[in-house]
This record gives sequence, C-alpha cells and structure tokens, in this order.
Amino acid sequence: MLQKTHSAAGLVAAEIILVRQGVPFLSWEAAGAILLGCLAGTLADVDKPGSTMAKVLFPLSAFLKLLHVRHRTLTHSALFIAALALAASPLPALYYWVFVTAYASHTAIDLLNENGVQLFWPIKGKIRLLPKFIAIDTGSASETAFRWIVLLVSLWIPISTIWF
Ligand SMILES: [Zn+2]
Repeated sequence: MLQKTHSAAGLVAAEIILVRQGVPFLSWEAAGAILLGCLAGTLADVDKPGSTMAKVLFPLSAFLKLLHVRHRTLTHSALFIAALALAASPLPALYYWVFVTAYASHTAIDLLNENGVQLFWPIKGKIRLLPKFIAIDTGSASETAFRWIVLLVSLWIPISTIWF
C-alpha cells in the first residue's frame, strides 16, 4: 500500500486509542497522538528501497539492505511488532498504545495486498487475507477506494464522539 494509505490507517488507529482512553479530540495530547499515529503507520516500509520512510530513516534502511532484509518481511512481522512493543514500553500509555497500534495497522492493511506479508518471519511464506482477485494492488483504483473508506472512518470517529 502507498504511504498515504498507511498514514490514514495510522490516523484511525490513533483515534481508536483516543476514544478508548477518553482523551478529548480537541487537545494538544490528541494532536500529538494523531501525528504519531500518521507517522508510525508508515514506519514499517523502511524496508522498501526508494520509499519515503527508507529515505527519511536512511541509515536504518541502508542497514536493512545490507542485511538483505526484503520488503514485507522482518519489519512487517508479528515478532518485530512484539519486540517494538516491548522496546516502546517506557512511553506514556497514550503514546505507547498509539505507536504500537498504528505500527501494527501497517501490517494489518498490507495483509489485504495481493503480495501478502511474511507475518510469521523468520518462518517463510507470505500471508494474504483476501483471495487474489479481490486483493488490493499497491497504487490501484481499489487502493484509492480503500483509502477513501479509511478516511471516511477517520472523519466519522471524532464526529460521532463529539456529537453523541
Ligand atoms: Zn508495508
């Protein structure tokens, strides 16, 4: 999926945590959490040469390349998410949950991609949740439609919490 789709999913992840923790949407804490969510949602693609995250986190992406870490493997795996969750544990609860959930949202939506994810890395074999004919190809019209749905959800969550 494209970076903007992952940012949108990270945004929804952050909003879910804000609702669960009862943090008002119109607060500085919420603004920080949303920014963190949008960034953390895109982080896993540091393993994709040429991606924005690989450029931003250049030393790290070069290191992964050196180790021959391939796209949608280590950084997208359940094991890595668990390790990251452990490493992030000193963070304050709100930012901790936003970071972990937004990071995991990346793998969750990549599972809808037609190439799938090596979810149980280092065990080989990619997992895909959708049958190939409806799986979402990166940059395709179905990804655009998917992103609009995610964005609509991201609008609906704060509107529904503020109104109801
Ligand atoms: Zn990815």
